[in-house]
Amino acid sequence: MNTETEKTSFGAEGHPDENQLLLALERELSPEETAQVEKHLGNCWSCRARSSEMQSGILAFVEYREKRYLPSLEPPPHESQTRANPSGGQAGFGEASGGS
Ligand SMILES: [Zn+2]
Repeated sequence: MNTETEKTSFGAEGHPDENQLLLALERELSPEETAQVEKHLGNCWSCRARSSEMQSGILAFVEYREKRYLPSLEPPPHESQTRANPSGGQAGFGEASGGS
């Protein structure tokens, strides 16, 4: 809230953390910070992969949210438990009515 000490503090290895990647994707960072992140993404494959992964994750989330508002046409899955009759399954099998 009151401390603004962390200014684009890329991690110990010099990579932006996922929060910064997310903020950069959402254009929530300042132009300078966004430029730093994007510059890093241009040089760092792993961070670029993470960024695109997060982006697709966001897209999936948005699609999922939109689909939730659509009326579900599919009926809920019924688990029809067809139990076999314990008795009377094989009535009269092999017992041919033997005539005399
Ligand atoms: Zn990186």
